[in-house]
Amino acid sequence: MGVRGLDAVVRGRVLTGGDAGFEAASRPWNLAVEQKPEAVVEVADAGDVAAVVRWAGERGLSVAAQTTGHGATGSASGAVLVRTAALGGVEVDPAARTVRVGAGVSWGRVQEAAAVYGLTGLPGSSPGVGVAGYTLGGGLSWFGRRHGWAADAVRAWEVVCADGERVRVTAESDADLFWALCGGGGEVAVVAAVELELFPAPGLFAGSVVWPAGRAAQVAAAYEEIAADAPEELALWWSLHRFPGAEPLVSVQAAFLGGAGRARALLAPLASVGGSVRDTLGELALTELGSVSGDPVDPTPGLARTELLTGPVGEWSAALAAEPLDPLFGVQVRQLGGALAGPSGTPFGSLSEPFYAYAFGAPVGPGGEGAVRGRLERLFAGVAVSGRKPLTALGAGEPVGRVFSPRVLERLGRIKRERDPHGVVRAAHSVLG
Ligand SMILES: Cc1cc2nc3c(=O)[nH]c(=O)nc-3n(C[C@H](O)[C@H](O)[C@H](O)COP(=O)(O)OP(=O)(O)OC[C@H]3O[C@@H](n4cnc5c(N)ncnc54)[C@H](O)[C@@H]3O)c2cc1C
Repeated sequence: MGVRGLDAVVRGRVLTGGDAGFEAASRPWNLAVEQKPEAVVEVADAGDVAAVVRWAGERGLSVAAQTTGHGATGSASGAVLVRTAALGGVEVDPAARTVRVGAGVSWGRVQEAAAVYGLTGLPGSSPGVGVAGYTLGGGLSWFGRRHGWAADAVRAWEVVCADGERVRVTAESDADLFWALCGGGGEVAVVAAVELELFPAPGLFAGSVVWPAGRAAQVAAAYEEIAADAPEELALWWSLHRFPGAEPLVSVQAAFLGGAGRARALLAPLASVGGSVRDTLGELALTELGSVSGDPVDPTPGLARTELLTGPVGEWSAALAAEPLDPLFGVQVRQLGGALAGPSGTPFGSLSEPFYAYAFGAPVGPGGEGAVRGRLERLFAGVAVSGRKPLTALGAGEPVGRVFSPRVLERLGRIKRERDPHGVVRAAHSVLG
């Protein structure tokens, strides 16, 4: 089915195959993902989103929405791809401690707007990740140990339903739809904006300490010592990095919501490791949080695997550093627990595993994908994992049964079939399997 006539119903730009700029507009942030939409609509406003959804529904087509393409899986192929960049509003209400965020906004802008009032949202490692896509997937934040899933901080969603109707959804107005959106993925409606709770952030002490990988055993011991008694305000990550042509490095990243004195005392075991080649720990503006993990900003090809670890990480992480990581570029371990292990209204529920591990590489040339996948397999063979993972960590082709229990999948599937019987809205991962 063609897409002729689509440009007559929207104010934004419509691009189809053969148009200059179509290839670039189709490309997701993750360049390893091939994505071939029928058309791309750079919507001008929420009215455009509604018009595209109605138009597609009447013609038996699907609509896939993307903010950045950080979470692309290829599922937008064959669909009308809605690019939300123009839905750009960020409105903070400091008295209510909330922010209304347009679906085109990435975390960096929310953090800038909230920091003016000494407030923070619940961003993940990269300021470039879209707020809507991240929150629809649950959203595992630097501050999750203190404040839980980002999706549990949602107060309302402004969406376009599969029939093109625009609705503001709260837990009171539509409990099923609200629940499905708060971590169940973007398959039940297209989001135009989200209202989130913000949290007080009187101070931030954060940064990373880096050592040659030869120190991995001592670093792992220090990491475990700190993690054993870490308060919820402290996020503690461990990383192993390989940069082409350079010696491998291990590092610890920390972000503490509070003052420098307490943070330095908590992190003292890092100083006793000795031999660090870089130490950026210090008081940091909330807007600089993205510098701590140093995630790539520009579009990058990446193949990753995440697992939730059920036991201690010290021996495993030290052993990883003793073996060549090639062709992977890095491994990151995040301490979970705290509020993440507490009650949650999200479809995922509480995150009881103590650690989250993420490893990634870039598939290069023929056989590159197989080589990265094979190394990822071997990497996780040596550690106990629960088999579950957050939706934002689910890779292309991985089953949603790794994220949601059968009972939750049954409820999500029922809501999807009721609200979108003709399958107009397409997400990165389908709850229908
Ligand atoms: C470098 C990097 C760092 C990351 N760090 C973290 C982290 O710390 N914590 C974490 O939890 N995750 C993290 N992620 C994963 C990230 O949260 C997910 O990939 C998320 O889906 C990205 O959202 P996005 O909007 O940027 O991406 P997109 O690819 O644009 O969107 C992903 C999916 O979300 C849905 N979606 C997006 N916008 C809409 C909309 N308007 N309406 C309906 N559905 C929509 C669609 O299903 C879409 O396919 C990271 C990913 C990368 C690449």
